[in-house]
Amino acid sequence: MRERHVVIVGAGFGGLAAARALKGARDVQVTVVDRENHHLFQPLLYQVATASLPPQAIASPIRSSFRRQRNARVVLGEAAEVDREQRILTLRDGSTLRYDYLVVAAGAKTNYFGKWAEWGDHALGVKDLSDAIRIRERILLAFEAAEREEDPEVRARLLTFIAIGAGPTGVEMAGAISELGRQVLAKDYRRIAPNDIQVLLLERGDRVLSPFDPELSARALEHLEALGVTARFGCSVTDVDAEGVTYTNRKGEVVKVHAAVTCWATGVQPVSFAAKIGAATHRGKIVVDQHCALPSDRHVYAIGDIAHFVPTGEERGLPGLAPVAMQQGAHVAKAIASDVAGKSRPTFRYVDKGIMATVGRSAAVVEVGNFRAWGHFAWLTWCFVHVMLLIGFANRVLVMLAWTWSYVTMKRGARIITSGHDAAHENQDLDPRPRPMSESQ
Ligand SMILES: Cc1cc2nc3c(=O)[nH]c(=O)nc-3n(C[C@H](O)[C@H](O)[C@H](O)COP(=O)(O)OP(=O)(O)OC[C@H]3O[C@@H](n4cnc5c(N)ncnc54)[C@H](O)[C@@H]3O)c2cc1C
Repeated sequence: MRERHVVIVGAGFGGLAAARALKGARDVQVTVVDRENHHLFQPLLYQVATASLPPQAIASPIRSSFRRQRNARVVLGEAAEVDREQRILTLRDGSTLRYDYLVVAAGAKTNYFGKWAEWGDHALGVKDLSDAIRIRERILLAFEAAEREEDPEVRARLLTFIAIGAGPTGVEMAGAISELGRQVLAKDYRRIAPNDIQVLLLERGDRVLSPFDPELSARALEHLEALGVTARFGCSVTDVDAEGVTYTNRKGEVVKVHAAVTCWATGVQPVSFAAKIGAATHRGKIVVDQHCALPSDRHVYAIGDIAHFVPTGEERGLPGLAPVAMQQGAHVAKAIASDVAGKSRPTFRYVDKGIMATVGRSAAVVEVGNFRAWGHFAWLTWCFVHVMLLIGFANRVLVMLAWTWSYVTMKRGARIITSGHDAAHENQDLDPRPRPMSESQ
């Protein structure tokens, strides 16, 4: 039988699950294309941003995931165009890949609601490793500057941090920044006291963690406040600049808060590759049928955050969660294998595994169907689930060691600043060649 070529765009949760489930599939060759060389475990990004974990603990090389999968190869490249008639995928560098089946699993990016050009440099997204490293460096540099600052107003700005959006990412960021500042950094700086640090959580709605049961939201808010986070509701952000954030409150008053670091955690939108498929979209997501394929093209599947899948009998699409992407990935592998074998394709059914979020170092909220838990037990559950979902044994060990160490010692190991140091300037000092005298010299 002729071999079929499956091209998977994206090695995130969905793409990786699809490619792995095709291991050993008869007469199938798989090519995984990703613009990064690593798979990223996004649920722990906030811990890299707040110096709990080093970046390599939550990223694993895509190639090593397929070392033992003989029918799979990996291409580092960015998918740019699709010719669905000819079944050709073109990459940004102009190279092409012919496919029999295309699985689009390219995920999402931070949603700036059209303000990326104006706000992107100041409102920092929490979506990839470079975002997390940038936040970590800005927080650490703000503390360094505050330690030396004499002007009380400037100092207050340097010790104020804002998270915009009180969904799971905003709540996790706000709690972790407050803990980092008040419980860890304040001990290492001679002139900074825990109460000097202000962390604001700004939310347009009227509660934190709106996808959760209201009681869990209330518990999470209580815990956030105990950690020193101030949450403000009914806030519509109108501007973000280098000085801070401007928003309109419920009374219609315009408020400006001066801050050193602002994190933008208001949600995501599909990556721009979604628009290149030439298919129907819903809020930018590719609309798929009950098999996770395009209704008009059984050779193209879309899964995970980039896809709009509405289960039969329901009105809303599935949420952007890792289990959705992973289950859809495993499903399209089955659908393709059935197609290749000339059998009818199965229908996708999502098994809801529930939702969870952490609120600081030792509390979390967990909701699975009617079961709800919060506090320390929920946090232990959260730790266990996240360690098990990490890719690679080495990463699991690294994360568990880092967590145990920081839990016991209250220290954060990943407090490294690299961008504030000017290597070119350093080399100049060592350069033995005579330097021209400047005017002032
Ligand atoms: C901060 C944060 C915390 C989260 N926490 C949780 C959580 O606790 N629990 C949970 O269930 N979910 C969580 N999520 C959501 C979860 O991470 C996503 O739902 C999941 O990653 C979606 O998987 P995916 O395969 O669709 O996309 P992704 O995992 O995002 O993978 C997409 C891949 O496609 C690649 N790519 C993109 N464009 C191209 C292109 N043009 N060409 C080639 N490659 C491309 C990217 O490099 C990436 O590797 C969180 C998300 C974020 C951002």
